[in-house]
Amino acid sequence: MLLLKGKTKQSEIEKTVTEMPVSCRCGGKPTKPLAIANCQNRWVIRCQIKQCYAYNIGQGLADTIQGWNRLSTHFYR
Ligand SMILES: [Zn+2]
Repeated sequence: MLLLKGKTKQSEIEKTVTEMPVSCRCGGKPTKPLAIANCQNRWVIRCQIKQCYAYNIGQGLADTIQGWNRLSTHFYR
Protein backbone atom coordinates (compact mmCIF):
# COMPACT_ATOMS: atom_id res chain seq x y z
CA MET A 1 0.00 0.00 0.00
CA LEU A 2 1.31 3.36 -0.98
CA LEU A 3 1.27 6.08 1.55
CA LEU A 4 1.30 9.44 -0.02
CA LYS A 5 2.08 12.22 2.29
CA GLY A 6 -0.06 14.92 0.88
CA LYS A 7 1.72 18.12 1.40
CA THR A 8 -0.85 20.62 0.37
CA LYS A 9 1.27 23.67 0.15
CA GLN A 10 -0.72 26.52 -1.24
CA SER A 11 2.01 28.12 -3.25
CA GLU A 12 1.37 31.72 -3.92
CA ILE A 13 1.29 31.59 -7.66
CA GLU A 14 -1.72 33.81 -7.82
CA LYS A 15 -0.29 37.03 -6.65
CA THR A 16 -2.37 40.10 -6.52
CA VAL A 17 -2.35 42.14 -9.64
CA THR A 18 0.82 44.05 -9.04
CA GLU A 19 2.48 42.83 -12.19
CA MET A 20 3.20 45.47 -14.74
CA PRO A 21 3.22 44.89 -18.47
CA VAL A 22 6.79 44.73 -19.75
CA SER A 23 7.98 46.56 -22.82
CA CYS A 24 6.92 45.31 -26.21
CA ARG A 25 9.34 43.28 -28.32
CA CYS A 26 9.75 46.33 -30.52
CA GLY A 27 10.96 48.31 -27.55
CA GLY A 28 7.80 50.36 -27.32
CA LYS A 29 5.88 50.86 -24.16
CA PRO A 30 2.56 49.09 -23.75
CA THR A 31 -0.63 50.95 -23.00
CA LYS A 32 -2.34 50.52 -19.70
CA PRO A 33 -4.70 47.56 -19.69
CA LEU A 34 -8.03 48.75 -21.01
CA ALA A 35 -11.33 47.11 -20.24
CA ILE A 36 -13.16 46.34 -23.44
CA ALA A 37 -16.53 48.03 -23.64
CA ASN A 38 -19.58 45.78 -23.41
CA CYS A 39 -17.48 42.79 -22.40
CA GLN A 40 -17.22 41.15 -19.03
CA ASN A 41 -13.76 41.38 -17.52
CA ARG A 42 -12.15 41.41 -20.93
CA TRP A 43 -8.98 43.42 -21.25
CA VAL A 44 -6.61 44.56 -23.93
CA ILE A 45 -3.04 45.79 -23.81
CA ARG A 46 -1.57 47.35 -26.93
CA CYS A 47 1.82 48.53 -27.99
CA GLN A 48 1.99 52.28 -28.09
CA ILE A 49 3.90 52.17 -31.37
CA LYS A 50 1.16 52.44 -33.95
CA GLN A 51 3.01 50.58 -36.69
CA CYS A 52 3.79 47.69 -34.38
CA TYR A 53 0.23 46.40 -33.94
CA ALA A 54 1.21 44.12 -31.10
CA TYR A 55 -1.63 43.55 -28.66
CA ASN A 56 -2.96 41.00 -26.26
CA ILE A 57 -6.54 40.44 -25.28
CA GLY A 58 -7.35 38.31 -22.27
CA GLN A 59 -9.93 37.32 -19.75
CA GLY A 60 -9.24 39.00 -16.46
CA LEU A 61 -6.68 41.68 -15.77
CA ALA A 62 -3.96 39.42 -14.38
CA ASP A 63 -4.27 36.99 -17.29
CA THR A 64 -4.05 39.80 -19.78
CA ILE A 65 -0.90 41.22 -18.26
CA GLN A 66 0.68 37.79 -18.01
CA GLY A 67 -0.28 37.05 -21.60
CA TRP A 68 1.22 40.28 -22.79
CA ASN A 69 4.42 39.63 -20.88
CA ARG A 70 4.66 36.15 -22.37
CA LEU A 71 4.19 37.53 -25.86
CA SER A 72 6.73 40.23 -25.23
CA THR A 73 9.40 37.81 -24.15
CA HIS A 74 8.82 35.09 -26.74
CA PHE A 75 8.59 35.00 -30.48
CA TYR A 76 5.21 35.48 -31.94
CA ARG A 77 3.68 36.17 -35.32
ZN1 LIG B 1 5.57 47.03 -30.22
